[in-house]
Amino acid sequence: MRGGRRYRLLRGIVSLLVLRYLAEGEECGYGLRRRISGVLGEALPPGYIYVILKSLRGRGLLDAREGSRNGRRVVYYRITDSGMDFLLRHRGAVEAGRRAIEELTRFLEGRGGESARGDRGRRQTYWRRGARCAVPAGSPGRCAICGRPAAVRVPYANASFCEEHYPQWLERRIRRVADRYGMFDGVRRVAVAVSGGKDSVSLLHALAGLRGDYGFEIVGIHLDLGIGEYSRASAEAARRNFEMLGVEGRIVDLRARYGFSVPEAVRAVRRPACSTCGVVKRYALEEAAEDAGADALATGHNLDDAAQFVMMGYQSGDLEGLARLRPVIPAGRHYGVRSVKPLFLIYERDLAEYARIRGLPVAGAECPLRDRTSQGFIRRKLLEIEEGMPGFMLRLVQEFADGVQPALAERYLREEDVGTCRICGRPTSKGREICSFCAIRARALGTGVAPGATG
Ligand code: SF4
Ligand code: ZN
Ligand code: ZN
Repeated sequence: MRGGRRYRLLRGIVSLLVLRYLAEGEECGYGLRRRISGVLGEALPPGYIYVILKSLRGRGLLDAREGSRNGRRVVYYRITDSGMDFLLRHRGAVEAGRRAIEELTRFLEGRGGESARGDRGRRQTYWRRGARCAVPAGSPGRCAICGRPAAVRVPYANASFCEEHYPQWLERRIRRVADRYGMFDGVRRVAVAVSGGKDSVSLLHALAGLRGDYGFEIVGIHLDLGIGEYSRASAEAARRNFEMLGVEGRIVDLRARYGFSVPEAVRAVRRPACSTCGVVKRYALEEAAEDAGADALATGHNLDDAAQFVMMGYQSGDLEGLARLRPVIPAGRHYGVRSVKPLFLIYERDLAEYARIRGLPVAGAECPLRDRTSQGFIRRKLLEIEEGMPGFMLRLVQEFADGVQPALAERYLREEDVGTCRICGRPTSKGREICSFCAIRARALGTGVAPGATG
C-alpha cells in the first residue's frame, strides 16, 4: 500500500476520527474517507478506511446496516455506546498526542522537513553535518531546507532559512496555527484588518498566499483613525498592499462614519489612548467586516502581544480579561462575524523579517498617541527572557491558550452574562446599559452618557 508506513503511524488517530464523525450520525465508508482525507490534506489509500471500520466493528465500537443510494447498495456505520465511551475516554491521550506531534513537527521543520520528502542529496548533506545543533549560535548558518547560506535565523526552532524558503516556512507556520484552532473552517470570505504596519501587512500577504488552499476570498479593511500624518501614511501603505495583491480594499474613515476621530475620543474620555483606541477599532472593524459580507475577521495580533497580555493579566489578576484572550472568538448571538488571530503564535520579529524579505510596503512611523506605560517594560523583560530561553513566549502563550484560557472561559465567559447595548444593540458587560464604544462616542460628540452606564 502506497504510503503504508505513514498510515500505520496514523492508524490510531484515523480510528478516533472515524468514531468522532460517527458521533454526529451514521455515515458510509466513502463519506468517512472523504472527510478524513480532507483533514489530513491528502487522500487515504484505497481500502484503508474499510480495514479500520472492520477492526472497530470487530471490537464492538460501531455497528452497520445496509441501505441503498441511487439504486446502489451502501453500508452505513453507526457508533455504539461502547464506541462513544471509548472516544470520550481518549481525551487525555489525544492531548498527549498533540503535544508529542508538535514537538516532532518543530524538530522536523527546523531540520529541513522538506528535504526528507525526496531530495536524497540534500538529506545526506544534512545528516553529514551531524551536529545536534544545526545552526551555530549567533550566525544565520545555512538554510535548513536547501542548504544555501541562510538569511534569517529562528532561534526557538533552532533553524535558519534562506530568503526563498523563509517566507514559505512562515506561511506554513501561520497555516498550522489557523488549522490548529479551526480558524477558517467553513469560511468563504475573510476580512483582514490592515493598519499598514508590518504585522497586519504580513498577515494580508500570508492569507492571500493561502487563499487557494482554503478557498476563501479576501477583503482588506483599513480604518482611518484621523491621527494626522501617521494615519495618512498608514492609509497609503494599506492601499498599496491592496493594489499589489489585487484584493478588494475598503478604507473606513472613522470621522465620516461615526463623527469623531481617535484623538478627539482620547481627549474626551481621558483614559489611556491605546485602550480607548482599542475599543473604537474593535467596534469599527467588526461593523466593517459585517458590511463587507465577511464571515471571519482576521487581525494581526502577534505572539509578543499575546505574551504581554498574559503577563499583564496574571500580575493584575484580571481573570475575566484573560478568559477573553482567545485565538478564535466564534460568531454568536452578538457577533455576526467570527474573529480570528492567525498570528497568535507567530513572533513579532519573524513577521518583521517576512515583511523585509518580501519587500512589503509598510508604514514606518510610530503612532504619536502610543502609551508609554509599564507594558513596554514587561515586553522588554519578556524579550530578555526569550533571548536566554528561546521559545519561552511561544510556550507561555500556547499553554495559556490550550490549558488556562479554556478553564477560565468556563468560569468567566457565560453567554447569559452579556447584556445588550440600548443604543446600538451590540454586547455590553452584565448590568451595563451602554457598550464601551457608544459611551466613548457620546463623550467624543459631547452628547454625554449617564454615569455607570458603560460596558
Ligand atoms: Fe491606537 Fe495606541 Fe495603536 Fe495609536 S498606538 S493606533 S492610539 S492603539
Ligand atoms: Zn533555502
Ligand atoms: Zn453600543
